[in-house]
Amino acid sequence: MSDADLIIRGATVCLPNGITETDVAVADGKVCAVGEELSAKHTIDARGLLLMPGAIDAHVHYNEPGRTDWEGWATGSLASAAGGATCVFEMPLNAHPPTLDAESFALKRAAAEASSVVDFGLWGGITPVNLDKLSELAASGVIGFKAFMSSSGTPDFERSDLQTLRAGMKQAAQLGLPVSVHAENEVLIASLVAEAKAAGKAGARDYLASRPIAAEVAAIREACDLAGETGCKLHIVHVSCGEGLDAIAEAKKRGVDVTAETCPHYLTFNEDDVVRLGAPAKCAPPVRAETVRADMIARVRRGDVDTLGTDHSPCPPSMKQGDDFFAIWGGIMGAQQFVGSLFAAGLDGALIAKLTGTSVAQRFGLEKRKGAIAVGYDADLLLIDPRQSHLATEAGLLTRHRISPYVGSVFPVTISTVWVRGQTAWSSESGLGPSRGRLVRPAA
Ligand SMILES: [Zn+2]
Repeated sequence: MSDADLIIRGATVCLPNGITETDVAVADGKVCAVGEELSAKHTIDARGLLLMPGAIDAHVHYNEPGRTDWEGWATGSLASAAGGATCVFEMPLNAHPPTLDAESFALKRAAAEASSVVDFGLWGGITPVNLDKLSELAASGVIGFKAFMSSSGTPDFERSDLQTLRAGMKQAAQLGLPVSVHAENEVLIASLVAEAKAAGKAGARDYLASRPIAAEVAAIREACDLAGETGCKLHIVHVSCGEGLDAIAEAKKRGVDVTAETCPHYLTFNEDDVVRLGAPAKCAPPVRAETVRADMIARVRRGDVDTLGTDHSPCPPSMKQGDDFFAIWGGIMGAQQFVGSLFAAGLDGALIAKLTGTSVAQRFGLEKRKGAIAVGYDADLLLIDPRQSHLATEAGLLTRHRISPYVGSVFPVTISTVWVRGQTAWSSESGLGPSRGRLVRPAA
């Protein structure tokens, strides 16, 4: 065998079958050897460091084209890389135009190719106005479809009523693509919001009370029933509570092909933190009580959660201000703290690698390419210093707007280098690397 381009020597490596101290060699953007005697142009002495597969963050909002003033691919992808993601799946709703047909897909793909430092998949939308466009979105290469059961907060991305969702799922099943769903019951939430407003209530606790666990669980059950009936692959995004995971587990038992995502903020913050931190910690479904947070960590450890994604959802500072908590933009900026926050929640490297890598790749048709450190896979790698803690500061945020509930948090590890297909995407010493992201499409 000829020389490799790079050898990372002596790291503690998260391999699919366990953690071991070994060497990993990279050539032509792929892992070309693990544990063999090899020579290379560049060698990195990584003894004492942890080498993990790059995370695949299946849930980010970068809002470009059209709302680059909210985030954009350049800043969003750099923050994601610094947070440990080497591939992201970008949501269809906040760009303008939203990703609802082949034309809008092409615009977003061009924007991403121009400035993303990480590889990317693109979600297409299911809404009442584009059910005739799902096959062209599939042909364009979407990673799957996203639908909202409650208001999306973006007027040009309409919520799906049950008929729309069912019709979309039927088509997705035929196209062999998964549907991800924001599951909250619109009717219940709208009535609770109206009640609060009529009573002149507009605080953080009033907002939290308007989006109860019951609204989430009711919508999860409806989505699971429709997935069961249509034979569609369903992915419930940002499940915030144990009751939601129970509803998904029940559906799985009945044979529904459904998986559950949760996000680091549900493992990190509780309702009191939302009151203390205010707007930066507002999201939907909301962060729950401390008992729920602790239970979610236990359930992640137990295997009740299939994937972890950040739901990085930025906006301009002006939308994160005001006295009316209901009117403030709901979305947490957390891409840069992705892997660090999971270590802070007490998860170990092997579990993090599984839930942010292997399982995501399996669910979305990227297996044998991404999500693990193995010969022939893309060299998407994270080198982590497990002995060095890391404080998140406002000045250190790489996102367009420096707003995050994680500012002031200390993470038990530091990410030192991130490679996308063997190219540096980010390093703690030199910052931005030369990597250029490419579109990933699910295997047919
Ligand atoms: Zn989201």
